[in-house]
Amino acid sequence: MTDLLEAVRAQAAVPQSPLFASLPGDVATSFEFFPPKSEKMEAQLWDAVQTLAPLGPEFVSVTYGAGGSTRERTHNTVARIARETALKPAAHLTCVAASKAEIDEIAEQYWEAGVRHIVALRGDPPPADGGTFVPHPEGYASAADLVAGLKARRDFDISVAAYPEVHPEAASAQSDLDNLKRKLDAGANRAISQFFFSTDAYFRFLDKALAAGITVPILPGIMPVTSFAAIRRMSGDTTEIPAWMEAMFTGLDDQPGARALVAGAVAADLCCRLYQGGVRNFHFYTLNRAEQAYAICHMLGVRPKEIG
Ligand SMILES: Cc1cc2nc3c(=O)[nH]c(=O)nc-3n(C[C@H](O)[C@H](O)[C@H](O)COP(=O)(O)OP(=O)(O)OC[C@H]3O[C@@H](n4cnc5c(N)ncnc54)[C@H](O)[C@@H]3O)c2cc1C
Repeated sequence: MTDLLEAVRAQAAVPQSPLFASLPGDVATSFEFFPPKSEKMEAQLWDAVQTLAPLGPEFVSVTYGAGGSTRERTHNTVARIARETALKPAAHLTCVAASKAEIDEIAEQYWEAGVRHIVALRGDPPPADGGTFVPHPEGYASAADLVAGLKARRDFDISVAAYPEVHPEAASAQSDLDNLKRKLDAGANRAISQFFFSTDAYFRFLDKALAAGITVPILPGIMPVTSFAAIRRMSGDTTEIPAWMEAMFTGLDDQPGARALVAGAVAADLCCRLYQGGVRNFHFYTLNRAEQAYAICHMLGVRPKEIG
């Protein structure tokens, strides 16, 4: 596997054809959404879901607000996807500000609604609460703990978070990797990465994970840049923003059309490099907008399933 990846990467150093021309469409996709706060946002979310659904994603996931603030909305969104579409929804669930009994009850409600996939996270408290995670006295202490708790009750399909550029609270890159291994050993089936803009960082991380005996998929999280200021805010200490990216987006704040085209080109280039490096699973942070994800999937050779 490593040799093959390295051979493909070496061959990929010089692009053979313009961007993605002639890709066979051999990639699997998944899309992340967030629960809407208003009717208008709800309409936007459904528009995105309906646009992306024909691409046949492996699953679509719905985030859980900091501090459990979207408990109802996440549940309602996930349940509606399960009820009204043929998509396989995955519900994000965190350990923040809730006892084990409360979290177990939420998980049980998902199971009863036919939801079989949980993205199990520790979560972060809302910034207003100081930003430092302190486990609930009767709660799960970490994502690994949550995975074990979920698995003990139901045979959920479980995804967990991975950090190619290291989680900011980790003592070291090695201890963060050990933590990922703990989550997988507790029963998680795959990892989804924090978004990144350095393919080198992602590939180095894959190599280290493989050397640590991690063989499950680690889906790259792809974040198309809709607003550079927002990306900078979301990156925090977890994702490095390369200088070239800042240069690329400087001067486009008041040019939404041009910015969207540049964002598409940047994300397409990232995915092209990942594809050439052997990646075949892509997870898109859609921010409830379909255009960028749809365009990149199209360039990766993905077509609506009805058309074939
Ligand atoms: C794909 C993805 C989706 C996300 N979705 C959401 C969401 O919906 N809602 C939300 O609030 N947040 C979400 N987050 C953010 C996430 O909650 C935060 O990054 C949080 O700070 C860490 O969560 P975790 O599950 O990675 O925690 P953990 O895996 O528990 O790790 C947290 C930190 O503790 C360290 N650690 C854990 N256990 C040990 C141990 N035994 N010894 C030493 N160190 C340890 C880890 O190395 C790491 O630094 C998401 C992140 C990703 C990548």
